[in-house]
Amino acid sequence: MKSLLAKNAEVLVTMDDKRRELKNAGLYAVDGVIKQVGPTEELPQTADVVVNLSGQIVLPGLVNTHHHLNQTLVRNLPAAQNNNLFPWLRAQYRIWAGTTPEASRVSTLIGLAELALSGCTTVFDHSYIFKNGNTVDCQIEAAKEIGVRFHASRGSMSLGESKGGLPPDDCVEEEDFILKDSQRVIEQYHDASRGAMARIVLAPCSPFSVSSDLLKESAALARSFEVMLHTHLCETSDEERYTLERFQLRPVDWMETLNWLADDVWFAHGIHVDDDEIRKFAYKGCGIAHCPCSNMRLGSGIAPVKKYMAAGVKVGLGVDGSSSNDSSHMLQEVRQAMLLARLRIGLLPPEGPRKYSVLSQSHPLRAAEWMTAREALELATIGGAKVIGRDDIGTLEPGKCADFFSINLHTVDYAGALHDPVAATVFCAPQKARYTVINGRVVVENGKVATVNMGPVIEEHNKWSLILADRG
Ligand SMILES: [Zn+2]
Repeated sequence: MKSLLAKNAEVLVTMDDKRRELKNAGLYAVDGVIKQVGPTEELPQTADVVVNLSGQIVLPGLVNTHHHLNQTLVRNLPAAQNNNLFPWLRAQYRIWAGTTPEASRVSTLIGLAELALSGCTTVFDHSYIFKNGNTVDCQIEAAKEIGVRFHASRGSMSLGESKGGLPPDDCVEEEDFILKDSQRVIEQYHDASRGAMARIVLAPCSPFSVSSDLLKESAALARSFEVMLHTHLCETSDEERYTLERFQLRPVDWMETLNWLADDVWFAHGIHVDDDEIRKFAYKGCGIAHCPCSNMRLGSGIAPVKKYMAAGVKVGLGVDGSSSNDSSHMLQEVRQAMLLARLRIGLLPPEGPRKYSVLSQSHPLRAAEWMTAREALELATIGGAKVIGRDDIGTLEPGKCADFFSINLHTVDYAGALHDPVAATVFCAPQKARYTVINGRVVVENGKVATVNMGPVIEEHNKWSLILADRG
């Protein structure tokens, strides 16, 4: 039994059903599970590990629902700086396919470190190119080393250019092998139990890089093992044109024919959808990983997040890969989600009868269109947990995993904003975590990664980044 006491937090955000925000509070956990949350004086006086959080705000650990960790190797790549999805992908497929096992390991460590330093405690990674000896095993090992709760994907691409897909033929795999390896990875690593640190997701890449057969077979395999399914969907109008031309169906309708609209599926992006498709996602129980930075970076569009929320669609946030975000700062994503939802109000007329189309953005009838700071934080915590199928993370209350982070409130960045410290973490420039605790283990301590010596990892990562870009 290993106990942890986190005490003296100036504010502690529980995200529980009553959305309680406690003053001078903390929590007590045993073996990674929260036993008590409340005022510091009501908690046990000591524990094996004691973290003093005075002057800090504590929030539930953030949940990242979409990433491509290996892309930290190609951040800010000149050939992919100024284009939208399809040419951006073409500029990088071969570089990604060159990723070696060692490059995968260090890029996973870099991405997870950056996420943990920004308050993220659970990460879903969507890897879909396994060439050059790279396997999902390298990532799972790296996640274990740094101590981040990790949902890995055995993703895939099988539709090369010669078969009408977007990726070059030498970047895709045989479907038989993909399915065989998917089963191996599930059997070896998937942990369905409460508090699991590793889970597996099957995640064919996108409508234009896998066949209908592989999507169907992946769904059947995932369901036979009760693991979740994920893919990119409705990200660009190019994708919509592609499925209309190839299958005479819009992307959502096409996925429905493949048995991919269900409550064990979540889609990255979900930008180009109409009201019927939003209702369909709600009815079928599909989730959405909203990635505002990436959507802006690639000029993809603005996902109708508030409409999803109003319709009852599960929505979480994702930083997306570092080729289309260039950062893995989860709190920054929370801020961008709030800001982008607001920009949408200014760009589009209000919903409903035409007589409302001249209403000012601040008219009370439009109040529901505004995303608040607390709503954005909910997406990143409870929302993300629901999207990836977990009820043991996302809130700070007894019985939940001891996953949380803290930020120092008494800094230049928050000076003058402490009327509302919770909203300050979203409205003010995104800060780094002072402490990040995952499964009761201190992963970030005094603003530094405590579990891995990151200096040599950064050097190794930069070396691989240059080698891969040269080879590509
Ligand atoms: Zn993505």
